[in-house]
Amino acid sequence: MGLKSKDVEEVWAELNMEPAPAVGPCVHYITACPGTVTCIYGMQDALGLAGELEKRHLGRHELASKLKISVSGCPFNCCKAWLRDFGAFGKKRGWTVVIGGRAGAKPRIGDKLAENVSPDEVMALAEKTIKVYAELGEKGERLGTAIQRLGFEEFQRRILG
Ligand code: SF4
Repeated sequence: MGLKSKDVEEVWAELNMEPAPAVGPCVHYITACPGTVTCIYGMQDALGLAGELEKRHLGRHELASKLKISVSGCPFNCCKAWLRDFGAFGKKRGWTVVIGGRAGAKPRIGDKLAENVSPDEVMALAEKTIKVYAELGEKGERLGTAIQRLGFEEFQRRILG
């Protein structure tokens, strides 16, 4: 808030970060809550997992439309996994993974893909979800719309199979 456009480049440099791509059919951003780092409700390390997802997927461009990822450290879900194309939230026994959600003018609650999985398993599910979406998504079609068109069971079979 309040940042002047002339200062944006300098701020990215001070943070030692690359600017996130905000437009086009690619992975736009990965949001994360503080999780176990500072939140008393945190059950899993949301920042750590989001950092790994960001390194691997941010800016990937082979997609039909934009794709948004979020990670929350507990079921309170402050980063809204249910409303993101690929979302994960922590519980005591591991991560729950949800796909195909979105906010906006035509909101959609995502479908639960997996429960009680490890960070490595979340990484593998993200890789596979993006690959299947790249194969099946039609130009301009968000992941949730592709799931509605083809059926969640078909997506799940291809991702988990
Ligand atoms: S989702 Fe849970 S862990 Fe993350 S900020 Fe919200 S309450 Fe804290």
